[in-house]
Amino acid sequence: MTTVFITGASSGIGAALAAQYAKQGAKLGLVARRSDLLEQLRSSLVNPELHSVYALDVTDHAALSAAAANFIDLHGVVNIVIANAGISVGTLTEYTEDLAVFERVIQTNLVATVASFAPFIENMKPHATTQSCRLVGIASVAGIRGLPGAEAYSASKAAVISYCESLRVGLAASGIRVVTIVPGYIDTPMTKLNTYAMPFLMPVDKFATAAVEAIASGKSYKVIPWQMAGIAKLLRILPNWLYDY
Ligand code: NDP
Repeated sequence: MTTVFITGASSGIGAALAAQYAKQGAKLGLVARRSDLLEQLRSSLVNPELHSVYALDVTDHAALSAAAANFIDLHGVVNIVIANAGISVGTLTEYTEDLAVFERVIQTNLVATVASFAPFIENMKPHATTQSCRLVGIASVAGIRGLPGAEAYSASKAAVISYCESLRVGLAASGIRVVTIVPGYIDTPMTKLNTYAMPFLMPVDKFATAAVEAIASGKSYKVIPWQMAGIAKLLRILPNWLYDY
């Protein structure tokens, strides 16, 4: 049975991925800070008793490692790790040079991706030639060309893309696949404030289906942009800097 460890599972994309993997019969490790939402999610999933909840902050590396160790103890091999926890603090209208903001975003989006994968790599190595083992980074189209007003977010996601690509090449011989998923605009609590993007928001379940397929196929890099992306591109409805992915 597939085992999947997902950070940022209490909301949006993480919760939608959890629902899809639970339907496929997977055993899940669900990580986020809000334990009430994690418990709520767990009880709504298929086979709730198979899933473990870890209420922690992913920037607390000791807590994250302890959760990973517990999940490995419970299940032996872990097949998929999705480093999905992320924050966006940009207003999309104001430039920020606030270093505290930069540090918080880089710690949550980039360093915690590294910290989420690290405890699983040695666990996966002996199994990766006989079964599917995937490390999945969640980047953003903002990481491809940048997003004015979300400088810290864009920089963190660009770094996630290049970190995952470096790791992919470095781990290729072991059989562990590293997959970078690059979402566009997906309908989650994170995008609720971006009103200009509303007509283009992709339903989160549709996104999760495409992401689960890409992860299963072992693609190294998959952009899943937004609703009507082709039309928006053709008509140049969205600002130019959003098209080049
Ligand atoms: P949400 O805000 O809905 O969910 C974010 C998740 O991350 C929550 O479960 C939150 O849980 C968790 N999280 C945030 N900070 C921490 C932390 N320090 N420790 C543990 N968990 C944390 O956003 P989305 O679902 O939209 O985003 C998920 C990922 O997808 C993010 O990495 C985001 O950057 C990326 N993405 C999203 C896009 C979109 O259009 N929605 C586009 C491109 C990328 P809690 O608050 O309980 O800790």
